[in-house]
Amino acid sequence: MADFDYDLFVIGAGSGGVRASRVSAAYGAKVAVAEEYRVGGTCVIRGCVPKKLLVYGAHFAEDLADARRFGWQVPECAFDWATLRDHVMAEVDRIETVYGQTLENNKVEVIRERATVTGPHSVALSGGRTVTAKHILIATGATPMVPTFPGSEHGITSNEVFGLPALPKRVVIAGGGYIANEFAGIFHEFGCRVTVVNRGDTILRGYDAQIRDRLLQISMSKGIDFRFNCTFESVEKRDDGTLVIRTAGDDPIEADMLLFATGRKPLTEGLGLETAGVVIDGNGAIKVDADNRTTCDSVYAVGDVTNRIQLTPVAIREGQAFADTVFGNKPRRVDYNNVPAAVFSHPPMAGVGLTESQARERLGSVKVFTSDFRAMKNVLAGRNERALYKMVVHPETDVVLGIHMIGPEAPEILQAAAVAVKAGLTKQAFDDTVALHPSMAEELVLMR
Ligand code: NDP
Repeated sequence: MADFDYDLFVIGAGSGGVRASRVSAAYGAKVAVAEEYRVGGTCVIRGCVPKKLLVYGAHFAEDLADARRFGWQVPECAFDWATLRDHVMAEVDRIETVYGQTLENNKVEVIRERATVTGPHSVALSGGRTVTAKHILIATGATPMVPTFPGSEHGITSNEVFGLPALPKRVVIAGGGYIANEFAGIFHEFGCRVTVVNRGDTILRGYDAQIRDRLLQISMSKGIDFRFNCTFESVEKRDDGTLVIRTAGDDPIEADMLLFATGRKPLTEGLGLETAGVVIDGNGAIKVDADNRTTCDSVYAVGDVTNRIQLTPVAIREGQAFADTVFGNKPRRVDYNNVPAAVFSHPPMAGVGLTESQARERLGSVKVFTSDFRAMKNVLAGRNERALYKMVVHPETDVVLGIHMIGPEAPEILQAAAVAVKAGLTKQAFDDTVALHPSMAEELVLMR
């Protein structure tokens, strides 16, 4: 140890980096973490956390409208973006402080500078210092990918969207994935005119086809516009700030904001990884083995920078597994099977395990059970929005291979169901469980 300044030097204080730092320090390692922006990373500062709070804020539009059917005399309500934005920002500040305190309490040194690797055991800090470490952990995350075409610089990304000075009246969102569908819902509920422009003909590729089709159908019936197989040609910014967005073969769209939600790429550029012989793949992601070790023995990487599954809880698990393995003498590997995921759209969708098409590809035939229903609350509210739950079951063993759902509170319900899928339970086990009535979740045990 005496040979190095630190046992562990972590670059990036996001979900993966913070977990790895504090757990390694708790095991007795001398740890420093460098962060050039804000402690907490994408999830806390400009991702999951502020997004979920906006989703809550947006949903009041429907709740307030529905409340009238439940007897509440709701006066005409107006939405004030600045109030929500500032409250969300304040909450983000609070969580950032808590993260900082957690690191401090665990005796992790937080260095608020940019760090670059200069060799297998050395790191240069933007302040001019060079430090050495027995192990280096890269946890720099990912950054929004923006396609380049004339005028694309007039668009913004999820990095900027949380701090908008004012709510745009007309929003164009590029992409058809997580961020596009979540923000389409958010802005639509706030009363903006939303157009989603997607290069292909499918939203949320990777999700079960029936579930994502239901989201598309509900989104369209709410008034969100979708343009499919549509590619951008140019964006022109007028003097009054209005954008004129031109796409191939379609009418131009006038908008006040263009949001790029076209994927995120691992943040490896300019990190000096080549100085340590760390190999990155064609997508810029750091190549790691099952123990998060890169092609350099002393350098590890966790989270989005490795582009395995770009989800916060996965990065946290990887950070924990790294610390347990390298400093805790408890070798641990992350199991990437049956990782649940959700899209916080309006309504939200969630899934775990194999989709129907993935299961058919692997097994030939599968048993599929569905429940297509209107939530009780929606019936009384006169809201014509149907939920859809789907269970994919092994044809011989009866094991539940996947559960996919769209409907109110789908992520909350799916988290519990994911335990059953992860545990390898059978459809019979669901059938044997008495329904909890009246609930939406009871549909999971009533599928016949
Ligand atoms: P996604 O990968 O979900 O979706 C990207 C979308 O952009 C796809 O529709 C893709 O089309 C399209 N696209 C990609 N490149 C281009 C291009 N050059 N021009 C036009 N369209 C393009 O990415 P997001 O940006 O929405 O989110 C990034 C990641 O962050 C997600 O993959 C997810 O892992 C994570 N995330 C998770 C959330 C959650 O858990 N709820 C919420 C937000 C983000 P195509 O399908 O044709 O490739």
